[in-house]
Amino acid sequence: MASGQLSRAEALACPGCRHACHVMLYCDTETQLFGIHPIRHIILMQMRFDGLLGFPGGFVDPSEESLEAGLSRELSEELGVALPILEEDHLDSCYGPPSSPSSSSSSSRLITHFYAKKMEEEQIRAVERAAVTTATDHGQEVLGMVRVPLYTMEGGKGLAPFLSHSFAGSARSQLADSLLRLHLVAPEELRDASARALQIRARGADELRAAMLEAKRKPL
Ligand code: AMP
Ligand code: MN
Repeated sequence: MASGQLSRAEALACPGCRHACHVMLYCDTETQLFGIHPIRHIILMQMRFDGLLGFPGGFVDPSEESLEAGLSRELSEELGVALPILEEDHLDSCYGPPSSPSSSSSSSRLITHFYAKKMEEEQIRAVERAAVTTATDHGQEVLGMVRVPLYTMEGGKGLAPFLSHSFAGSARSQLADSLLRLHLVAPEELRDASARALQIRARGADELRAAMLEAKRKPL
């Protein structure tokens, strides 16, 4: 088991730990972008209230409900549909990053549980519709659902710029690990896209610095 990872049973046995569960909903698709780039799979993520990309889900208290029932409850709030999540959909559990002095103490350590659920394309489209029509969190905790572009277009557009965005918690590595584990993207494609994402981030930092300097120079 990779460092920081633990089994579902070990995670549940952790005294005083907090738990968060998130899920990757996905399907296969035959559609092509502009009739030339196979989209291959639709993977749902969301733009969160905090400006970060993440997977649907949230905090669950295992003393009150099972991890999967809690995740399902979070999905009804965030997506407007109570999708059943099963123990067999569980991919992994690991300690979250100790982001603040309080969360690094063992008594409130965060464990993040990640699930993946394969659906039919029509079901994924129905989730996207419900997320803007019936979900109570729409426009509040969830600003909108997004699909992950898995293709690489001329000039490197597609997966690389997507990976260069900012993600909540360990969502970026959960995405990358699942893409490999579920054979949704070839390892060399992911390696190239990750390397390009790093370059894009560096260029983005330069652009941001220049824009801030320019804003300071402009008369009010
Ligand atoms: P949420 O209620 O969805 O904000 O999630 C609860 C906690 O899990 C927060 O501390 C988030 O930073 C963290 N988190 C959010 N999304 C993910 C994710 N995909 N993977 C791991 N942790 C996450
Ligand atoms: Mn959430």
